[in-house]
Amino acid sequence: MKLKNKNILIVGLGVTGVATARFLINRGASVTVSDQKKEQETGHEEPLIREPGIRMELGPHRIETFERADLIVVSPGVPHTILPIRRAKEQGIPVIGEIELASRFITEPIVAVTGTNGKTTTTTLLGKMLEDSGLKVFVGGNIGKPLIAYVDGEEKAEIVVIEVSSFQLDTIDTFRANVAVLLNITDDHMDRYPDLDAYTKSKARIFNNQQYNDTAVLNGSDPVVRSLSRDILSRKVFFSSKEEGVAISDESIISQENMSQLLADFKLPGKHNMENAAAASLAALTAGGTFEGVRTALRKFKGLPHRLEYIDTLNGVDFFDDSKATNVDSVAKALETFERPVVLIMGGRNKGSKFHTLRDLIGRHTKKLIVIGEAKEDIKAELGDIKPVETATSMEDAVFKAYNAAKPGDIVLLSPACASFDMYNSYAQRGEDFCKAVEEQKKLIIDD
Ligand code: ADP
Repeated sequence: MKLKNKNILIVGLGVTGVATARFLINRGASVTVSDQKKEQETGHEEPLIREPGIRMELGPHRIETFERADLIVVSPGVPHTILPIRRAKEQGIPVIGEIELASRFITEPIVAVTGTNGKTTTTTLLGKMLEDSGLKVFVGGNIGKPLIAYVDGEEKAEIVVIEVSSFQLDTIDTFRANVAVLLNITDDHMDRYPDLDAYTKSKARIFNNQQYNDTAVLNGSDPVVRSLSRDILSRKVFFSSKEEGVAISDESIISQENMSQLLADFKLPGKHNMENAAAASLAALTAGGTFEGVRTALRKFKGLPHRLEYIDTLNGVDFFDDSKATNVDSVAKALETFERPVVLIMGGRNKGSKFHTLRDLIGRHTKKLIVIGEAKEDIKAELGDIKPVETATSMEDAVFKAYNAAKPGDIVLLSPACASFDMYNSYAQRGEDFCKAVEEQKKLIIDD
C-alpha cells in the first residue's frame, strides 16, 4: 500500500488516532487530523498537535477536508456513519479503520478476539498462554497498544494477538484473522447501533476474510453466535458451558479429557470465566501454543482489575469491584457467580440497556439495590418493584449505604450495567473510587 505523499485524513484524535498519525508521517504521507473537540479539551494528544507536518482541524468537521482526502482513517470512537464520512464514501474515497490499515503491513499470523464481554480477559490470557509456550507475542488492539503502533515499532513478534471491538470491525475491509474468537453477543451499545441485529452483523465481520485453513472459535451456548456460524467459511470449533464444565465440539485440537484437566487448574470464579479460559486455550493451541504453556498460564492467571475483583472484607461483608460491567449480561454473570445475598450498586450513564432483563436474577440474588448517576431513575423504574432501592449521591455514599444494608456473610458488589462517563473519565477511575470508598468505610469502622 503506497502512502508516500498521499493526502490522508484521520478522524478522531484519541490514542489510536495519535498512533495512526505517527505511523503515516513516518511513511511520508501528508496527514490531517479532524476532531470535534476544541483545542482546550484535548489531553494526551497535546504533543501531536505541536508536531510539524500534521495539520489539525479541531472543532466542527469540515466536509471539504473529507472530500479532498485520498484516504480516510476513522478512529473507533467515531461512528463511521456521520455525514462527512458518508459524503466522502459517496465520492468513492476509501474509508477504513486503523486495524485495517495496520493489518495490511502485518505478515505474522493474527489471532483476534471479539464478543460483547470477556474480550480483555480472554485476550490477555491468550497472550500469556502463547508467551508461556515460548513464543514472542504482541498483545494489543482494543487494549493496551494500538495495532498500528506495533507495525510502527522496532520489536517484531512471531504472533499477533488482538482484541477487536465491533466499532473496529465496522471499518475493516481485507483484514483477515487466522484464528478468530467470538465469545458471546448480548445487548450492548444500543446508543450506537439501531438494533441487536446490526450489532451482531458488526461482530460477525471478524470472520469476513477467513479462508478454509483458518479457524473460528465460537461459543456454542450462545444462541446468537450459533445463528451466525452457518455463514463462516473456516474450520469451526465450539465451546459450550455445561453444568459439569465446558464441552468442546471438535477434539482435533485437544481431547475433551485434556481440556477438562486444563480448566481444573483455572481459579477465576464463574461459568463465564470458564468459557473465557476454554476459548483462550482453543485459540492458543490452534495458533502454536503448547499444552504445557497453556496450563502454566491458566495456573498463574489471577484475573484483571475491575472485573469481579475481590477488594476487602469488612466485618464479614465481602466487597467486589466489577466496574467494567457496563452492560446487563456482565451484571447477570456477576450475580450468577455468587450464592450469598448481594447488595448491588448499579448506575452511571445508560447506554440504552434493558435493565428489566435482570429482574429474575435481581429477585433471586440481591437483597437491595443502591443506584447512582444519570441512570438511577431508569433503573428504579425497571427494577424498583422487586427489591428495595436506595439512591446514593456519590460512590462514597453508595458504599456507606450498601455496607449498612449488608450483614456478615453478604456481598457488596459494584456492577453498574452502565458506562462511567457521567461521573468519571473511565471505568477504571470509577473502580478506583469504589476501592477508595471501601477504604474510607474501613476507617470509619476502625474509628468506631
Ligand atoms: P470486555 O473487554 O469485553 O469488556 P472484560 O474481560 O474486560 O471484557 O470483562 C468485562 C466485564 O464482563 C466484567 O464485568 C467481567 O466480569 C464480565 N465478563 C468477563 N467475561 C465474560 C463472559 N464470557 N460473559 C459475560 N461477562 C463476562
